[in-house]
Amino acid sequence: MDEASRARIRIFLNDPAARGQPAVPSQPPLDTERHPWGFRVEGERPEPRPYDPDTPEFLYWQIASALARGRALWTRFLPEAGTWIVGPVLPSIPVEGEGLNAYYDRKALHFFRGEDTTTGAVVHSGDSPDIVVHEQGHAVLDAIRPDFWDAPHFEVAAFHEAFGDFSSILAALAEPDLARAALEETKGALDHSNLVSRLAEELAAAIVSRYGPEAALPDSLRDAVNPFRYRAPRSLPDEAPADALSRAPHSFCRVLTGACWDALVRLYSTNPAARSDETESRAAALREAADVLAGAIAGASEEAASVAGFFRRFAAALVREAGGEENAAAFTEALESRGLATAGGPTDLRAALEPEALATRTLDAIRERLGMSLEDEILVRPARNGSLAGRRARDLFLSGSEYGPADGAAVEISDSFSIAVAESGFVTASRVERAGTDDEEDAREFVRTLARRGRIAGDDAPSVDAPVLYREGKSHFVARERDGVRRVRRSWISGGER
Ligand SMILES: [Zn+2]
Repeated sequence: MDEASRARIRIFLNDPAARGQPAVPSQPPLDTERHPWGFRVEGERPEPRPYDPDTPEFLYWQIASALARGRALWTRFLPEAGTWIVGPVLPSIPVEGEGLNAYYDRKALHFFRGEDTTTGAVVHSGDSPDIVVHEQGHAVLDAIRPDFWDAPHFEVAAFHEAFGDFSSILAALAEPDLARAALEETKGALDHSNLVSRLAEELAAAIVSRYGPEAALPDSLRDAVNPFRYRAPRSLPDEAPADALSRAPHSFCRVLTGACWDALVRLYSTNPAARSDETESRAAALREAADVLAGAIAGASEEAASVAGFFRRFAAALVREAGGEENAAAFTEALESRGLATAGGPTDLRAALEPEALATRTLDAIRERLGMSLEDEILVRPARNGSLAGRRARDLFLSGSEYGPADGAAVEISDSFSIAVAESGFVTASRVERAGTDDEEDAREFVRTLARRGRIAGDDAPSVDAPVLYREGKSHFVARERDGVRRVRRSWISGGER
């Protein structure tokens, strides 16, 4: 071994099973615990070497390098954030146990080891950058929008998945080799499925081997190139085969992931360099389009209020965050073709869904508008450009045996507000939105769906530790909180649960 290769590691840039993508040499990531988005892979750090796949040393560096790429992505596009819910450093556990999955629980990322029963191959979920960056994406989104975690809405839960998938896609497109490979595979027609749009190929194959052909797509767990149009999630079944849409977060998220991919294709094709004879210029144009999309996703994620109709709120925010008329037009076209404009309303997303203006400038006015007493807590989150956004969490009590262990418990729904403050210190705009009957009905149906699927641990559960609840398939639990109210809370969020 020569000096140059000794200090290098070997990694999968894309999924281990993505076509034509062998493990490649790379530099080991440095200073991974430093702010922003610091991370640590649990276990002893092996000397940097080009290890063979399916060794613990390879897995260590594989997870570390994928996390470093996700960290680089979100350091660029969320520069003011960078601290996790758990603190400055997010731990990752390379092998939590046996299984075909991965999850995030506000304390760490957990990966698993399984087997493809058809091929006999070992499948580490941590070997796939698609999965690792997706899980890290859950943690990033949780850091900037902790209010999404317990939100009892189908579209907010699905958004968590879409954000994870787009984290993986954007981190992949930041790699010149992968941007080029996507263009080569599709011969420039990026509206065709390709190694970047397809996610978690190896895990999907193992899931199909174990659970049958309906459990995943034939070539991936999810594909951002897909035909799914928006439909109200409550009109969809609890579960469906992988090629059909259901209200389950990992299924429904594909509407938004697909719309964002469509926007990427349109942003790319408006760049004259997309028609260049030079492969390098086309790949650079694709990376530029990915940057525009990443900026818009970051901005819209910070902005959009947690409500039942979240996808359209997010869609409107994407257009506002697009940066320029031409980009905004590309987003609008892509979102409208997925049915993500306001149904029956104005077609201009920027004009639609603008909450009502509020004339006064103070939090007192917000309290008054939301019907809050002075004891009610206002939860504020940092927003862009010195503005302020937040919510008042309101208990919605659930009653009936159809709520399972959540019968008699409450979920929190949110009344939202935002205030824009100019550099001079004057308030330039403010808006208030009270959760309505649609939000309440969405929340009730969300919990009924969890109950039907046996996802809620009761407050008699012996442990509410996430790893315990994960093994039992309980993503939510009921807890009696300090104020005496029993509330439904989320415990963990997974990568590829069936
Ligand atoms: Zn996930």
